[in-house]
Amino acid sequence: MFKLLVEAVEDYSIFLLSPEGVVSSWNRGAERIKGYRESEILGKSFSLFFTADDRANGVPELILQDARRHGRYETEGWRVRKDGSRFWARATLNAVADEEGTIIGFAKITRDVTAARETSRALRTAALTDPLTGMWNRTAFLDELDQWVENDETFAVSIIDLNGFKLVNDSLGHAAGDALLKSFAEHLHDAASEGIIAARLGGDEFAAAARTPEPPSCDEFVETISAALRKPVMLGEKQSNVSASVGVACFPSDATNVSELLARADAAMYEAKETQSETPVTYREGLLKRSASRRFLDREIAGAIGRGEFELEYQAQTSLRDGAVVGREALVRWNHPVLGLLYPGEFISLAEANGTIVELGRWVLNQACSDAAAWADHVRTAVNVSALQLADRDFARTVAEVLATTGLDPHRLELEITEATLIRQRSEVVEIFADLQSLGVKIALDDFGTGFSSLDTLLAFAFDRIKIDRSVLHASLQPSRTRGVLRAILALGHALTTTVLVEGVETQKQLELLRGEGFDEVQGFLTGRPSSSDEPVPEGISRIASRRAPRDPLR
Ligand code: C2E
Ligand code: MG
Ligand code: MG
Repeated sequence: MFKLLVEAVEDYSIFLLSPEGVVSSWNRGAERIKGYRESEILGKSFSLFFTADDRANGVPELILQDARRHGRYETEGWRVRKDGSRFWARATLNAVADEEGTIIGFAKITRDVTAARETSRALRTAALTDPLTGMWNRTAFLDELDQWVENDETFAVSIIDLNGFKLVNDSLGHAAGDALLKSFAEHLHDAASEGIIAARLGGDEFAAAARTPEPPSCDEFVETISAALRKPVMLGEKQSNVSASVGVACFPSDATNVSELLARADAAMYEAKETQSETPVTYREGLLKRSASRRFLDREIAGAIGRGEFELEYQAQTSLRDGAVVGREALVRWNHPVLGLLYPGEFISLAEANGTIVELGRWVLNQACSDAAAWADHVRTAVNVSALQLADRDFARTVAEVLATTGLDPHRLELEITEATLIRQRSEVVEIFADLQSLGVKIALDDFGTGFSSLDTLLAFAFDRIKIDRSVLHASLQPSRTRGVLRAILALGHALTTTVLVEGVETQKQLELLRGEGFDEVQGFLTGRPSSSDEPVPEGISRIASRRAPRDPLR
């Protein structure tokens, strides 16, 4: 009965070997798994089941030896079927002894576990791989770094975060976002062949690391990463204008363990993002603390619009012809429930970095237009527009929609744009401006006198107004030279039939100077500090001007 039972088992190959390893019995499972019929295999050496390599290395003999010595042997490995195909076997070999203890043979039980092995390998790979890019995931990356720390290696790690990714994802869809991530991953992958390991940590966040020479220097690593990131990130056939912010930290100079190290690299990355640095930022003292509050705001800002935490203040723009207030610039404030009132300098660059500026900008536009609709007809509102908003080809349509829903006359809306925006995306913006101006909306060049201040920009766009940055008025130049610069810009503006406004007017002296030179408009604390929409519009400068001013204030 027992013999019949063993012979009939199909899932397990069960057979007997002589002490020398010759097959002396065979069951149905053995035939199914190994492909030999009983008549073919009886009397043959079991070494037939091994690969040529194993046979050459004497593996079958070693197995027998071991089973003889310990009474039992367990193994896993490739075995070969009669037709030459392989399977992954899990086998046990039990020595069979007679009553005196002499070994009279071995019972061998083998199972084909190829499928189970594949599954567990696939699961392990999946657990360590990012499915989209095929790169290592966070777990695999951290495991490797832990290993490096354990081995007392010196190394550098970088955190890499894409700028403007959210925008691509939101405006062009997830397929485009995925394509972009893949293109970026390829660059990192190419760099990885130079001794760098790279991973996708999640979302649009990547990481790379490399061992560094003794004495530790991260320079070479930083150079390799920079080179990889200079390659354009593709969006299908087109080159995207997505770039990356990179922070670098070094082990062991910056941290004592992996999580500390990553936190520092992350802080450095935040600094890079904040300062719009095109090159990697290396960690330095103090960045961690700064980034903690940045990160906090970064997480909060998207939800803050829905929670109604933003509000607008307006600052008067006053005509120097008749002293009347002719416009009010909308300046956004974030009334944070915990941190109190925050000014644009504290959150606009964050909103630009994470893409929220598009939604925030639309909110500002809508609010400003609906506020302005309640003001006197001759008062316009000026709204600041950031580069990312203009990256959307539909921006002019958005503006038209807002004007329609708020009922504001397009002539009473002015959009303020800084020069940096225009240099980056020139041809697209020319068209958007043309569309806006044909609606009747006015365009002002903001903060002129900082940055490039190029004649080229002034000639390429038909601005309705130039706003001279307050730094020009406040520059610690000799008064005659300040006057010279102001005069030159004014002449330029008037030659282009553009009105010229000066920002940052704080004193009567400055006001008189500007009036004397023939400027069109002023904006500053003297003629009105930013205040809420429903506060009365400042009454203009007739009263201020009537105070007696010295004849030549700057001399
Ligand atoms: P900006 O467009 O040049 O706005 C003028 C800034 O100068 C305002 O600062 C204003 O409070 C300040 N200011 C006005 N008069 C004087 C003065 O007499 N003396 C001095 N020292 N400062 C004066 P604020 O409100 O902090 O805004 C800073 C910048 O943030 C703005 O500069 C603008 O570029 C940006 N911003 C404000 N609101 C928005 C917005 O809704 N969207 C975008 N994209 N940017 C905005
Ligand atoms: Mg402005
Ligand atoms: Mg300005």
